[in-house]
Amino acid sequence: MITPILPRCIDCQKEMEPGFIPDLQTTRHVPNIWHPAPCEKSGASLTGLLFGLASEHLRVDREKGVAIVAFRCPDCGTIKLVAPAPGN
Ligand SMILES: [Zn+2]
Repeated sequence: MITPILPRCIDCQKEMEPGFIPDLQTTRHVPNIWHPAPCEKSGASLTGLLFGLASEHLRVDREKGVAIVAFRCPDCGTIKLVAPAPGN
């Protein structure tokens, strides 16, 4: 088994723990992704219209997205976000 090289915290040099930040906007909890720019708008959202929140959705091409890995320092809580190439 290959042990991944974990990044070190830039503040206290402690080895960071891998994890992810789930997208809690939907009923399915999935990792957030990095998406290449530009962002295209895909229309108004019902939630936005009802509650006066940001009323537009962004068009997301999941094929272009890269899952974000969130490394957290267990000592100071610093988080480093990385979007590694698939397979890495
Ligand atoms: Zn730290």
